[in-house]
Amino acid sequence: MSFRMLYLFDWFEKKGVTLMSEVKFVEITDAGLTIINKEGNTQTLQADTIIPAIPLVPNTELLTALKGKVSELYAIGDCNEPRLTVDAIADGSRIAREI
Ligand SMILES: Cc1cc2nc3c(=O)[nH]c(=O)nc-3n(C[C@H](O)[C@H](O)[C@H](O)COP(=O)(O)OP(=O)(O)OC[C@H]3O[C@@H](n4cnc5c(N)ncnc54)[C@H](O)[C@@H]3O)c2cc1C
Repeated sequence: MSFRMLYLFDWFEKKGVTLMSEVKFVEITDAGLTIINKEGNTQTLQADTIIPAIPLVPNTELLTALKGKVSELYAIGDCNEPRLTVDAIADGSRIAREI
């Protein structure tokens, strides 16, 4: 587990967040989020708002569309690898200095 994950899980514990592992997503409805829990039972978690935060997957659509159409192309930030804002800024800074 990375340092960031440890920090996050510590914060979850402090905030009293209920963690559920090994669940399968079924659907989001007006009632909330329906899942199949690790025991294999279907369950609806009532919610007004659902924020999908993971998995973080790079969106490379623009990168792919521009390949071969521009003389120089660099993948930086989340389209390269989803991380933190500071990492995206560092990528931009590094590439700008290389250019
Ligand atoms: C739920 C969530 C919470 C987060 N919390 C934190 C946090 O607390 N602290 C932290 O440091 N980081 C956090 N992050 C990560 C942070 O948001 C990203 O690392 C950062 O925004 C990456 O910057 P970026 O410029 O690479 O991408 P983005 O900020 O995603 O910017 C990419 C932009 O490109 C646009 N775009 C995409 N495709 C096209 C297209 N085809 N044509 C034109 N425009 C396009 C998008 O609309 C978007 O505006 C979080 C991420 C998520 C998903």
